[in-house]
Amino acid sequence: MLVLLDRDGVINEDRPDFVKSPDELIFIPGALEAITRLKGNGHIVAIVTNQSCIGRGIITPETLFNIHEKLLGNIRKMGSDIDHIFIAPDAPWEATENRKPGCGMMKAAMTMFSEKPKNTVLIGDSQTDLQAATKAGCHRILVRSGKGAKTQANGIPSDLLPVSVARDLTEATDYILNGRFS
Ligand SMILES: [Mg+2]
Repeated sequence: MLVLLDRDGVINEDRPDFVKSPDELIFIPGALEAITRLKGNGHIVAIVTNQSCIGRGIITPETLFNIHEKLLGNIRKMGSDIDHIFIAPDAPWEATENRKPGCGMMKAAMTMFSEKPKNTVLIGDSQTDLQAATKAGCHRILVRSGKGAKTQANGIPSDLLPVSVARDLTEATDYILNGRFS
């Protein structure tokens, strides 16, 4: 499958003031191991991340590159990799279809890897992730890490169902490897 991961709250701890440096990128326990398991089982793994901190002028694209070099370096040290990182740098007030809840990044990913929506799953912690995946027609798993517990407590709108709910990326990976998700 094509597995699309939201970044903040799924792979690393979410920060209300944005991840602004490599030092502020704190991995959620088990997340990198989960990515290596997905890759080891033949799945394509890409990240789809809103980074309005660029559009807002809080960090530069170079800083975001360095943050992602830390992420990729840690995964490569484990003998694995990430196939691509899709970034929506748009500020909310000038959002394009790429910024979630738009589905531009999901469509770009399915095009790049020639995968159909039924063979694509998005894992995220926000309602906007679920909206983007629904628009793109792909499967969706909500993790309770990051903002996920709050997203679930707020209630998932019926038009976004079905949504599988997992504790974190580790459990979401179990679902995918066992074919047990909606
Ligand atoms: Mg998130």
